Amino acid sequence: MKIICIGRNYVEHARELNHPVPAEPIFFLKPDSSLLRKNRPFYYPDFSQEIHYEAEIVVRICKTGKYIEEKLAPTYYDSVAIGIDFTARDVQQRAKEKGLPWTKAKGFDGSAPISPFIPLSELPPIDRIGFHLTVNGQAVQRGNTGEMIFPVDRLISDISRYMTLKTGDLIFTGTPSGVGPVKVGDRLEVYIEGRKMLWCEIK
Ligand code: MG
Repeated sequence: MKIICIGRNYVEHARELNHPVPAEPIFFLKPDSSLLRKNRPFYYPDFSQEIHYEAEIVVRICKTGKYIEEKLAPTYYDSVAIGIDFTARDVQQRAKEKGLPWTKAKGFDGSAPISPFIPLSELPPIDRIGFHLTVNGQAVQRGNTGEMIFPVDRLISDISRYMTLKTGDLIFTGTPSGVGPVKVGDRLEVYIEGRKMLWCEIK
């Protein structure tokens, strides 16, 4: 399976990082070794001094497709989770300055904590799902899938022009504004529609 992550999919987040709003979806990959399941702790890596959290709605692909039309995209996913796209912001910044790939900044072990999946049938429509992230009990990120620049169906259509989507592939759909650093000892919790889905201690 592969993990496809969308960059700059919320206007306010693009602004907080001083990026223009993109004209088409930006995406990158994380390896499966980046997944962190079952609320396991995150160990602060030695190659970064600036790890940021990014809370994101994650969509699970449920059948293989290529060149998927946007109107058929809803038949290609069946469940949703919440994840954190941990980012070594300092490593990413150096890569950006040199025009190098973001892989080291985004794809390291443990950089993708993920909650259990909820079937779509138990949630509001895909473009009306609210979520938020707390750090040590304080809400720091709030988002709703309705605020995405490119909605889920458009993302699936666009990604599948470039790479075949397969059952079990995951799409991290981008983060709203409010990203920030974590430090050892922090406890992160992430909620979908007010329901606590994921927590993660920074060690
Ligand atoms: Mg992200």
